[in-house]
Amino acid sequence: MTARFEGRTVVVTGGGRGIGATTAARFAREGAAVVVSDLDREPAEAVSGEIRKSGWRALPIACDVTERAAVEQLFESAVREFDTVDILVTCAGIIKDNLIHKMSDSDWDSVINTHLRGTFLCAQVAQRLMVPNRFGKIVFLSSRSALGNRGQANYSTAKAGLQGLARTLALELGPFNVNVNTVAPGFVETRMTRAVAERTGMDYEALKKTSAEQTALRRTGRPEDIAGVITFLCSEDASFITGQTVYVTGSP
Ligand code: NAP
Repeated sequence: MTARFEGRTVVVTGGGRGIGATTAARFAREGAAVVVSDLDREPAEAVSGEIRKSGWRALPIACDVTERAAVEQLFESAVREFDTVDILVTCAGIIKDNLIHKMSDSDWDSVINTHLRGTFLCAQVAQRLMVPNRFGKIVFLSSRSALGNRGQANYSTAKAGLQGLARTLALELGPFNVNVNTVAPGFVETRMTRAVAERTGMDYEALKKTSAEQTALRRTGRPEDIAGVITFLCSEDASFITGQTVYVTGSP
């Protein structure tokens, strides 16, 4: 594979698991130095360790994206190790599903905080590095749930909000050659969708089967499906795309 990201540094939040982990490895394989950031140190270290074993560059950082000081430190560490940050991918995310009449304040606040505040903080600190360099690529993880999904008032609100944030930052940062887009996956096989099965008491294989049957391409998504689109949006082939949301759902 050609090294599309040689000389670039990427920060991936939520990089210790699922879509973030696969995306971090994909960037590293294509030449980037990758900062693998996650809430807990262990998954970030595990993903970084695998990347380094293959001879690529990675730095694990524990960071709660809802904490400003932690986000500032994340980018300071990235700059200390790799000089700058060229690309930001925000995969950190949680779900706390409940129908509206059962949704607690904390279900609402934690989901809104992680996705919206966390992404705002990361983007704000990242753009400080990107604007002076007149180069940057930012991708937020939205979701098909942004269009509305029963039991996910908090999550769908946050994921729709991220699309607005991306469009706005695309306008503000476009003059400085910084592209900002969102990727909105459908059902992807990760710990997050396993948690949905556990919470609803469904067998995971049965949930996957149902989801596949409801999908035009008759299969569920894999983290690789999403990582491929994220890296495309951060590549030169996508340099005239900004403020867009790409739905990656296996359906129209
Ligand atoms: P995942 O496997 O659960 O990974 C999410 C990661 O984010 C976890 O490592 C989690 O850490 C981390 N995280 C949670 N809160 C954090 C915080 N405050 N600060 C830093 N990291 C935090 O989920 P995924 O499926 O890969 O999801 C990645 C992104 O894609 C999310 O934004 C999700 O909403 C979105 N998405 C996923 C799907 C899907 O079907 N899987 C569909 C649409 C959109 P811990 O594990 O330690 O909590």
